[in-house]
Amino acid sequence: MLILHCPYCGVDADETDLHAGGQAHLKREGPGSSDEAFEDYLFMRENPKGVHFERWRHVYGCGKWFHAARCTSTLEVFGTYPAQTLEPPQDIKDKISGTRPGWSWGIFK
Ligand SMILES: [Zn+2]
Repeated sequence: MLILHCPYCGVDADETDLHAGGQAHLKREGPGSSDEAFEDYLFMRENPKGVHFERWRHVYGCGKWFHAARCTSTLEVFGTYPAQTLEPPQDIKDKISGTRPGWSWGIFK
């Protein structure tokens, strides 16, 4: 079972207390963007086997959204952090690099 630490209320919640919100760190496209960029924003998502950054909501707890860095194949959780964070914290990226040298995900390394 997937267990994630809510960075707001401090609870280690199992997946039945959470709601998945898809890929984290999406770059939002506005009215001035190209059709291709807007289409990518609306429909294209990464689905890696390995390190992934996801949005989760502590729906049966505090109700707040947060981000989680985890491995989709082993369910190893590298850390969670507030959804307002624009990129993964350095300590989480260092933890990922420690177990998976040379990893990258989108613009993050
Ligand atoms: Zn919470």
